[in-house]
Amino acid sequence: MSQFETRAIHTAQHPDRNNGAVIPPIYMTSTHRQNAVGDLAEGYEYNRGGNPTRDALQEALASLEGGRFGFSFSSGLAAEDAVIRATMTAGDHAILANDLYGGSFRMFNRVHKPAGIDFDIVDLNDEDALRAAFKPGKTKLVWIETPSNPMMTIFDINKVSRIAHEHGALAVVDNTFATPYLQRPLELGADIVVHSTTKYLGGHSDILGGAVILNDGEVADKIRFIQFAVGAVSSAFDAWLTHRSLKTLALRMRAHCANAQVVAEFFDGHPKIEQVYYPGLPAHPGHELAKKQMHGFGGMVSVRLKDGAAAKRLAESTKLFTLAESLGGVESLVNHPAEMTHASAANSPIEVGPEIVRFSVGVEHIDDLLADLEQALSRV
Ligand SMILES: *Cc1c(COP(=O)(O)O)cnc(C)c1O
Repeated sequence: MSQFETRAIHTAQHPDRNNGAVIPPIYMTSTHRQNAVGDLAEGYEYNRGGNPTRDALQEALASLEGGRFGFSFSSGLAAEDAVIRATMTAGDHAILANDLYGGSFRMFNRVHKPAGIDFDIVDLNDEDALRAAFKPGKTKLVWIETPSNPMMTIFDINKVSRIAHEHGALAVVDNTFATPYLQRPLELGADIVVHSTTKYLGGHSDILGGAVILNDGEVADKIRFIQFAVGAVSSAFDAWLTHRSLKTLALRMRAHCANAQVVAEFFDGHPKIEQVYYPGLPAHPGHELAKKQMHGFGGMVSVRLKDGAAAKRLAESTKLFTLAESLGGVESLVNHPAEMTHASAANSPIEVGPEIVRFSVGVEHIDDLLADLEQALSRV
């Protein structure tokens, strides 16, 4: 099979059969004409079940993650919800990492827990704690986010997946921060990959989307059914934009990684920064593991300031880094997790301290990014 960059550009991107257009059109349609009752053109019927533009994206997503099946959803959380519904029912139990996206925690805690799906939050780097958390016959999923949001913790995908399998559970990896360019969880032994394609895969802060990629045909059938029966699908236009963005994923990720490394090193020596959380720094506790399971350290950098007031002052003082939720776009963003992305985790085991500021380092010129951070820190 061809290399990542080549697949990102060519998978399911065939010139139009009729007029040779190099880029396939966006199929803005909700339904397809049937030749006779039940005689479908290329299997297409009503577009909640399948749309050619969405199918092309799904094939590309599967190819990039090295999986057999890909599914595209209207948001990352819709994709995660489909995984939970496909693998768990009332009475089942999940194990979640002790640092993860606040919205994922909120969905487990306030949507699925009231419906009877229990969960525990565990430090997945603590093998004894992880082994002790399994409830025989009940634990169906271990939910791994690595690097984690926002503390940039690195978890061992291969090891956690093996322990999950020993206990009859599936390992799910939220690969949003790393992207398949930097990390391919299925190749490391995980069972299911989920994404918020809103972030790096979309890459331009102009779409919402999610994805599920996996190898198991039986679970894939369930996900396909939920996608169809619940209907949280991506629109043809969003699917088309996301597919277009995949073509530059490798280029963008190299630039994000290079800029983030310099930003992390800049913060590392700065007197107003108490601690930097970036796996590309040799002092990061997950540095060696990240070198092993990733092909680069990503574009996300978090820092700790002396208190919440200083953190908010930094987040509100940047000019080029835009104060906004979300991440992974070409433009740099800054976020104060305790009151923004992780507000729903307040008073929970995954609460994020008010001293933390998270940066999504974009692909602008590094000199401009550093100048902006310098001027912002001078106001702290
Ligand atoms: C944003 C995000 C999600 C949720 O995705 P949406 O597209 O916002 O629904 C899930 N996981 C991670 C790591 C995220 O950053």
